[in-house]
Amino acid sequence: MEHGSDNFDKPDPCSIRVSSVASSILAPVALFVSPHLDDVAFSCSGTLAGLKRRGWRVAVATVFTASVPDPRGFALACQLDKGLGPEVDYMALRRLEDAEFGQELGVDSLRWLGLPEAPHRGYDSPSALFDGVRPDDRVDREIARRLAHLVEDLRPAWIFAPQAIGNHADHLQVVRAILDHPDWRARTAWYRDLPYAAKNPLAAPSPDLPDNIIEVSWPLTPDDLTAKVSASARYASQIPFQFGEAAAIGRTLGGFAESEAVRLEKSGPVEAFLVDPESLSAWIAQNLMPDPAN
Ligand SMILES: [Zn+2]
Repeated sequence: MEHGSDNFDKPDPCSIRVSSVASSILAPVALFVSPHLDDVAFSCSGTLAGLKRRGWRVAVATVFTASVPDPRGFALACQLDKGLGPEVDYMALRRLEDAEFGQELGVDSLRWLGLPEAPHRGYDSPSALFDGVRPDDRVDREIARRLAHLVEDLRPAWIFAPQAIGNHADHLQVVRAILDHPDWRARTAWYRDLPYAAKNPLAAPSPDLPDNIIEVSWPLTPDDLTAKVSASARYASQIPFQFGEAAAIGRTLGGFAESEAVRLEKSGPVEAFLVDPESLSAWIAQNLMPDPAN
């Protein structure tokens, strides 16, 4: 494989080779793209667990995973406020949590794209993180390039990507990178970013998303929801900051999945996605979803 980053090329002990995923002829592949080391877990890992149970191969690629030595200023504050001293390799710790998550849910390929988070790209305050993409931030091009390698190798039938609800610059950049590949549009399902969507269920997705995409829902079995909550707890460094306490993960994620069902007039719990209208029949045909017309 050709990749331009040392981090991206580092062997990943908990992942299988992507080629072995691609060579599995019978099982389709679902690629879950996560801006940070936790977004897929909180947002759509119930669907991931359900697909896995139905025999799919699942891959999780997290974009912003690079360790940056000697963090300063706002970047350092982002780990100090998690109770981690300056001597701790914050991202190494989070990659370890991600590996535990992947192991728990049986993720077939876990990938770290090795790019630096927004506080290392000139976003220097909490408000700057949520105030749109800086004009000089073109990390979306590099994300698009690295994802292209991954998609070429994995040949996913579906790509799960964030809607960027909450307007975090890193999430917005992942949206741009996915949209940089128009040929992926008909196989992309955009997930609702948690915990942002739980805090503000009416918050809008990225303005870059196409206007005509439609919303579908994936029903979670009790086992899928239990698996989601349990695996999400693996991101221990993020739990107090994102949820307040460990016991709140189940309440927040379970309660949100139930409220999504109410919002969409389904019997719950569910996870919701935006898809291209042209891909709806493929989505149903592949038994990803019960027919929404029923
Ligand atoms: Zn995130």
